[in-house]
Amino acid sequence: MILPDEQFYKTCAHKLTSWFEQNRRDLPWRKTRDPYSVLVSELMLQQTQVERVKSYYPRWVDLFPNVRALAASSEEEVLSAWQGLGYYSRAHNLHKCAQTLLADGHETLPADAAYLQKLPGIGPYTLGAVCSIAFEQPVPAVDGNVRRVFSRLLDLGSDPTKKDGAALIERTVEHILRLGEPHILTQAFMELGATVCSPLSSCQCNDCPVSMLCAALKKGTQSKRPVADRRATIMRRLGAALLIGDAQNGWIVRRRPESGLWSGFYEIPWIIGGENDDFSACLQTLRAELGITAPCEETGLEETLRFTRWQVRVRLWRTSAVLQLQKGAEIVSSHSLLKLAMPAGLKRLITKALTH
Ligand code: SF4
Repeated sequence: MILPDEQFYKTCAHKLTSWFEQNRRDLPWRKTRDPYSVLVSELMLQQTQVERVKSYYPRWVDLFPNVRALAASSEEEVLSAWQGLGYYSRAHNLHKCAQTLLADGHETLPADAAYLQKLPGIGPYTLGAVCSIAFEQPVPAVDGNVRRVFSRLLDLGSDPTKKDGAALIERTVEHILRLGEPHILTQAFMELGATVCSPLSSCQCNDCPVSMLCAALKKGTQSKRPVADRRATIMRRLGAALLIGDAQNGWIVRRRPESGLWSGFYEIPWIIGGENDDFSACLQTLRAELGITAPCEETGLEETLRFTRWQVRVRLWRTSAVLQLQKGAEIVSSHSLLKLAMPAGLKRLITKALTH
């Protein structure tokens, strides 16, 4: 590992500024530095691919062009606009954030880091992105891309998410921000990580504007940096979902709890199986939970639901069993079922089942 010095900071600021100005991708959210728009795009980009955000972002700012418009919208409208982006707590937080800003007398985000960091959904990364891009303040925004770039530049031999490594990267980024224009440099760090200093084998050191500073390149350790985070293991399971009802009498849906994953969304009954469960074991558990003894017909449809570290392959069955409605459950028409805000994987299953 190397410890950066003044020359490192200066070269980094200078090289990355000119590289970014010539190589920046033309992305819709880069046409403005309006703080609300920066917040929206940064929240969308967390855990969602750029290509997907490119179609969602313009639609969102058309529907909710400012804090006031977003605060005045219903939760259903907000979740429906977010549908398909996943990790719905971001949409809830954005909505709450707009309502809090307005209640505090702000028509947009103020240039006040101490205030901003208390708003719902604004963690250290988002705070850094908004403060540096919208307000030109030297507040570091360290996400996975930036962590990877600096783990390699410094040849950091420890986990960059843990105390010492994380603090060293933050200090280094902040120092560089102070030597240039934070709105350019923050985006340059992210861009370098996204397009050049990519994960593992696709890393393109020959095109890197800061290769002369890179300690990992000198030692040939690029593929070992950042040091792997063992917590990132994906959990894979099978699951079962059940479409209960028929087109004439309607379908059973239930509302998810007010907090936690997909809060406020609707869903059809479904479960995640245990570690060794196959699809039929999943269905058996679901039927037992719902008290269904009537036969269930397999639809032949499957979809993958992804959330946090989980990937669940869900198979859909249907039944016209008549059930006592449990708390939080209701019956809706086919038309409403297709329109309700729902986790994207369940929505795809239902759409295929009802329209094909
Ligand atoms: S030289 Fe290679 S490993 Fe080092 S920062 Fe540039 S792209 Fe990343």
